[in-house]
Parts: sequence; structure tokens; C-alpha cells
Amino acid sequence: MAHQCETPGCGKEATLQCPTCLKLRIPGSYFCSQPCFKGFWKEHKVIHALAEGVGKPQVDNCEAGFNPWPTYRFTGKLRPYPQTPKRHVPESIERTDYADHPAGRAASEEAMRGNTSIKVLDDDEIEAMRVAGRLGRECLDEAGKAVDVGVTTDELDRLVHEAAIERDCYPSPLNYYNFPKSCCTSVNEVICHGIPDLRPLQDGDICNIDVTVYHHGFHGDLNETFFVGNVSDKHKKLVRITYESLCKAIELVRPGVKYREIGNVIQKHVAPHGFSVVKSYCGHGIHRLFHTAPNVPHYAKNSAVGVMKAGHCFTIEPMISEGVSKNEQWPDNWTAVTGDGLYSAQFEQTLLVTDNGCEILTRRRENNGQPWFMDKL
Ligand SMILES: [Zn+2]
Ligand SMILES: [Zn+2]
Repeated sequence: MAHQCETPGCGKEATLQCPTCLKLRIPGSYFCSQPCFKGFWKEHKVIHALAEGVGKPQVDNCEAGFNPWPTYRFTGKLRPYPQTPKRHVPESIERTDYADHPAGRAASEEAMRGNTSIKVLDDDEIEAMRVAGRLGRECLDEAGKAVDVGVTTDELDRLVHEAAIERDCYPSPLNYYNFPKSCCTSVNEVICHGIPDLRPLQDGDICNIDVTVYHHGFHGDLNETFFVGNVSDKHKKLVRITYESLCKAIELVRPGVKYREIGNVIQKHVAPHGFSVVKSYCGHGIHRLFHTAPNVPHYAKNSAVGVMKAGHCFTIEPMISEGVSKNEQWPDNWTAVTGDGLYSAQFEQTLLVTDNGCEILTRRRENNGQPWFMDKL
């Protein structure tokens, strides 16, 4: 796979790797030429200092000298690691309206806030959503196949970023309300919106990768939770039940069904196992906008507005926790974690309501390394 020069604005194909990064086992760090490498050196060398001491999976990260929030009480064992600089998207790729906004604000979404009417897509828009969904799926699979002990979530982000660019896509999370990376990676007790960093995945981790791509004006959004090495039976079960709850919810989708019904099906499936549904984050309408009406809660007895109609596009993305449903946020203002530090899993697909059911626009089309019990969608 061709790499891209790290120098912002360059975008050329790159084969030279920074020798210090190689020594420190920092992934990526490709440059097209010596002048580019020298020109970006002052900014680039910062990641060497940050990464020093990081790299051995068992090292306590705080001992390694990196603890950005000394007074924050973590709910579980996971800790933040240093992040690499923001990745570059070539100018040739169509960008979202928030890609270059200083606060990452999505004006097109904000204009629709409070509006509960759901867009019915025409045939051309549906075809564009099919393409965006398929491309998003391909990017997720690239990263999913690379999940392994010792691989950093930053490396997964690099794979998603480069896969998106190869497919003429803008990675939708990048700069969305200033989110710093091209996908979300949510490990163990992280419910969603984890920021890819230099933490190497450890044996027994579960790692969700959430990918959205923007292609020719439309977004396709999906996520899966992957196993890292030998995962305990209890955490495997959490992931499997979460996956099944999404399958059951999708079976419900057809014209005339109320959006509020989805949460009933999900909670009914997970509650008998003692698992809980996260309430703070919901599925969402998606098409030209990343997040829009309808709002799709995953918990029972919700009061979501709207009835499914052919031509609606939306996601279902249940977040299911081992323990309490309560969540809190790390001081990075993104990473959502369980209140008790126990693990949480998630799966997501982008769906199109059809005349007699639904089409899963982000469905899996080839083996991406997931085990047999996740072969339904
Ligand atoms: Zn989503
Ligand atoms: Zn997503």
C-alpha cells in the first residue's frame, strides 16, 4: 500500500521513514523526500519525545511520564497515550463543511437542529449512499484485519485514513467538532468516541473501530468490536450479545415501524444476560449530513419521534455494557467510558428502509477476521 508524506499539504507518495520513529517503533512517519522530512522536523520530532517510554504493552503509562490529567479519577484501568499529529487529506478529495472550520462546526447540521422531519432520499441519493456505505465498509475491514496484540490504535487510524483517501473519501470524523483523528477506537471500558493514540493493544482487549467516510457528498457509517488475542469468555459473550442485539433490531426495520420500537428489541435481548444499554448515545439519520433526524435510542420505552418510510437512511449502533449503563467522559471531552470501568461493546450499520424491509448499506462482503458467530451482517 502506498504511504503519504507526513508534511501537511504535501500529499505526495512517500517511501522514506523517519529513522527515529523506526527505532521507537512509532508506526507511519513516512516522508516523500529529505527536504520534506527536514522542513517538518521541528513539528515531527515532538512525537519522539511523547512516545519515549511508550511501546511495551505492560508498562504503566503514568510511570512512563504521560498523564495529562493528574487529578482525574479514571473509572477503569485504561489510560490515554500520546497522540500523533493530525493527518492530512489531499486537496483533490471533496471535504465536508466542518473539515476546515476552526471549531469543526458542521453548519449544514446545525441548520437542521431541532427539526425532526426525516429526509426521503431519491434514487440518485440512494445510489450515492450505497457507494458511501460500501467504501466505509472497505475502510473498516482494512483496519479490522490489522487488529492484533501490540498494534496501536494510532496504526488502525492510519490504515483507515489511507484506505479512505485511496477510495476518494474524506474520513468524516476528522475535525468534526475538532475530533483529532480519522476514526474512533474504543477499547475495553470505552463506550464510544475513543481517540486513536500510541497505546499498543494488549492480549484480552476488545477494540471497537468506528469508521465513517464522506464520498461525493454522502456519509457511510459503521463500526465493529474486534477481539485482541485471547479474550475472556465473559467479554466474548458481551460482544456476541451486542452483535445479536443489532441483528434483532435490523430484522424489525421496514416501512410503518416506529423508530422508538428499536430500543425495546435491543434491551429485551441484552437485559436477561445482566447487560445494560447505554442511553447517552443514539443511532442517527445519515446522508448528506453525518448526524441528523431521526434520533434512534437503543433503550426500551424511549420516546423517539418518527415512523420508518422507504427512502429513509439511518444507523442502529447499540452500546451495551457489562455493568452499569451510566457513562462519563474523560477530560479530553470525547472519550465516553462506563461509570464502573467494566467493559462495553458496540456494533453499527447504516440502513436504508426499502418497500418491504431494509438494505444494510454497510454490510460485510468478505471475511474481515471476525469469528463465525458474527457472520450474519
Ligand atoms: Zn453513527
Ligand atoms: Zn459510526
